[in-house]
Amino acid sequence: MFDINKLVRENIKRLTPYSCARDDYKGTTGVFLDANENPFGSLNRYPDPYQQKLKAAICKIKGVQETSIFLGNGSDEIIDLCFRVFCNPGIDKAMIFPPTYGMYEVSASVNDVAIIKVPLNNEFQINIKEIEPYFKDEKLKLMFICSPNNPTGNCMNHSDIEYIIRNFDGIVVLDEAYSDFSNEASFIDKTDLYPNLIVMQTFSKALGLASVRIGIAFSDPAIIHYFNRIKPPYNISTINQEAALNKLTDIELIMKQVNVIKNERERLASELASLNITCKVFPSDANFLLIKVKDANNIYNYLVNNEIIVRNRSSLIDNCLRITVGTKDENDKLLDALKRINL
Ligand code: PMP
Repeated sequence: MFDINKLVRENIKRLTPYSCARDDYKGTTGVFLDANENPFGSLNRYPDPYQQKLKAAICKIKGVQETSIFLGNGSDEIIDLCFRVFCNPGIDKAMIFPPTYGMYEVSASVNDVAIIKVPLNNEFQINIKEIEPYFKDEKLKLMFICSPNNPTGNCMNHSDIEYIIRNFDGIVVLDEAYSDFSNEASFIDKTDLYPNLIVMQTFSKALGLASVRIGIAFSDPAIIHYFNRIKPPYNISTINQEAALNKLTDIELIMKQVNVIKNERERLASELASLNITCKVFPSDANFLLIKVKDANNIYNYLVNNEIIVRNRSSLIDNCLRITVGTKDENDKLLDALKRINL
């Protein structure tokens, strides 16, 4: 029988969470003399620490309960909270599948948690045989699966993800930052089935609010409870909560923009494939393309000199560039520059 309390750090179970003024009095009207705020101005009050209006809007769209979601200052805060809830510094471990999103490893280092790296195979899929021996390792607390994966762009096999969740004794953090650009189903619904699953999504990609810094964790309420206990009390500003709420009032527009990006992705992929500098354009379920080129460093520098900035991922995958899908105009500028290249 799965017991979350066996995985949570003892000090996290024991701690007394910070009690903020807005925890004591939940009303919205009254004379507020409880939080040492300045009585003048329009942004003078602390934000709702539990972002209730925003969560209600998200839950309506996603069809989940408010006790099953947590909002972080970007997914990056949620990644850090996972380490803080589950991993004893200097003792516990986490697993990642490189090449993948860099913050899992950075956050592990910040928290003094050892990382086990099991590289993706030639199809950029998880090597299940290689990770099976770790499933019962008591010190291995977290596995980070990124699907669609950054920087490879592909989804991990659905059946592999489910097999890992079912068989790994620790917590699976499934990062779905790019899932809106994919036709694969999200695992959000499966958080009811699996108490060891955390699904992360973000306002930074399809929702177009990277500057607003809001990430969402979907999971069993027992995990959400621990995130709430340790988060900084006012982790999402009022301005940001309002911007996110406002964005959710026009889901149709977001869907339209996602479709434009997906169509541009296909156009860009086929145009890039026809260039003589291109060795391979990898299939993508995200809003970026990974391409293998003849001389990534030179092409990267050439593009920078033309004020076109892509991401050079050659240190992770030989001679590969990661190119975000922009507007039609931006993509045309990239293609024109690459057609003119003379290395
Ligand atoms: N996960 C993945 C896979 C990402 O690529 C990124 C950002 N590039 C993030 C999470 C970070 O998301 P946020 O902006 O919500 O912190």
